[in-house]
Amino acid sequence: MPEGNELHRWANLHNEVFAGKKVRVDSPQGRFTDAPLLDGRTLVKVTAVGKHLGYDFGKIEGEQRILHVHMGLYGDFSEGHPPMPEPRGALRLRIWTKTDWLELRGPTDCSLWNAEKWQTLLDRLGPDPLNHDKPGPMLERIATRKTDIGQLLMDQSILAGVGNIYRAELLFRARLSPFKPGNEVPQKTLEAIYKDAVKLMPDAMVDRRIVTTKAKDRPHKTGEALNEEAHYVYRRTGRPCFICGTAIKTKIVASRNLFWCPTCQAE
Ligand SMILES: [Zn+2]
Repeated sequence: MPEGNELHRWANLHNEVFAGKKVRVDSPQGRFTDAPLLDGRTLVKVTAVGKHLGYDFGKIEGEQRILHVHMGLYGDFSEGHPPMPEPRGALRLRIWTKTDWLELRGPTDCSLWNAEKWQTLLDRLGPDPLNHDKPGPMLERIATRKTDIGQLLMDQSILAGVGNIYRAELLFRARLSPFKPGNEVPQKTLEAIYKDAVKLMPDAMVDRRIVTTKAKDRPHKTGEALNEEAHYVYRRTGRPCFICGTAIKTKIVASRNLFWCPTCQAE
């Protein structure tokens, strides 16, 4: 599933080429039935928050309209310049101008919302490190929970935009056991994890590649990180920890595989 870095990358890209312009909109597959309502309107701006995208079309028939997109596990965009390709496959949405087009396939949601529904979403989500939100609400919510921190970090109402890769890697970088109850994690550690996310996540917006290892910790200390050295623990089950050599472990937590080093992140 794309994590926050991907969503923010799409928002920036789509803002650059479509914001402030009259756009054409359709749904070749037919499942986005409100497409005709947006066709020919001006796309005001595109916002990413957590794993959600909002395409603000301003007021239509007296009500603010926001096209909400949630990618889920299988959603993906393609973008390009004309000529626009012939519609193929389950093509949910197309947006285009004379100079640019995008295609959206496989999202969990692509539907027209009003301002109130969008605000309800914002209220429900935790701070998003990529929107420079303050970490306060995350700290407050974790402090009251006995649930393991490894599970809490996957909860979008606690930390928006963080998914399975960042969850595992942020915990490792903090040398924190994923099995520590939220209310036992020191405030300072949580603040440091949030700060780390603010620093780490923008890097992966540029090239869609999440690299969390520091050069000094990799077997190859110079040059770009090799794929097998890009993460400390994520998908490294049974491989030796770069720091201490212990075999990395895995377990399903919050319905996704969690990876950790039992030595560096001892309970
Ligand atoms: Zn280790």
